[in-house]
Amino acid sequence: MAVFITVLCLCVVSGLAGYIVWRSRWGYPSRSVPAVLAYHKVTRFEFGGTWVTPGRFASQIDALVDAGYSFIDETGFLDVLDGTRETAEREVLLTFDDGYRELLDSAIPALEKRGIPALIFLIRGFAGRENGWDLNLPGRRCRHLGWDEVSDLVRRGFTFGSHSVTHRDLTRLSGEELVHELSDSRNEIERRISCEVRSFSYPFGRTNQRIERAAAGAGYRAAFTLCPDRRATDVERYCLRREGVYVIDTVATLKCRLGRRGLFWFEDLKGRAINAVAVLTPILKGE
Ligand SMILES: [Zn+2]
Repeated sequence: MAVFITVLCLCVVSGLAGYIVWRSRWGYPSRSVPAVLAYHKVTRFEFGGTWVTPGRFASQIDALVDAGYSFIDETGFLDVLDGTRETAEREVLLTFDDGYRELLDSAIPALEKRGIPALIFLIRGFAGRENGWDLNLPGRRCRHLGWDEVSDLVRRGFTFGSHSVTHRDLTRLSGEELVHELSDSRNEIERRISCEVRSFSYPFGRTNQRIERAAAGAGYRAAFTLCPDRRATDVERYCLRREGVYVIDTVATLKCRLGRRGLFWFEDLKGRAINAVAVLTPILKGE
């Protein structure tokens, strides 16, 4: 019994300390813009935590719809940022990083069936190729969407942003390399799909003010990270927060994050911890 009480006290004290640090450093995000969800792989099983199964993805979407959430498209989201439209209660922008081909058989049918829009971020240099940049299960490589598939999805109403050329950590690149990752990816995707590319997603969510200025200079209208390292009350269009959805997430944790109050702080710390591990990908691959 004494051990139980000791462990309980330690949990309460460390939780309280975590909350105080979190509140003083980041705090609750502004609710003046819609919340943004960031999915990666929608697949049966994978290495790491940035994936959900197709069944769980569909059940999460259904649960959010049942709870009164509506899904906004990229244009609507940008209109809110521009101040030409006010966000409604419980609006969500759905995004996918990396543009995996498997989405065609998993997330895309589920979204089309429900009439839900999505913004998909492509890695220009890996379009139609296997994901040599990522860690996978041994012997497994996942293919990215090819240009013909992307063009077909544009015709079906999905929008696309850039996720760089090579998916490197942009904070480690020179000015010239940074321009290449930001501008060349945008120009090539626009040329391939004949649509303006307005949004950028920082690889591994890694950014800083130098990169944000470069994203603005490259002509993007918005850029997304995962865990902004600044006060969450400030809405900065080149450092927009998203809620990463991971294999351990449930409908309850998603609702907590989208609600941006209450136990949101605990979920935010959890997301930051997972993202800190994901950032190690290039190091683990020896790059
Ligand atoms: Zn990525």
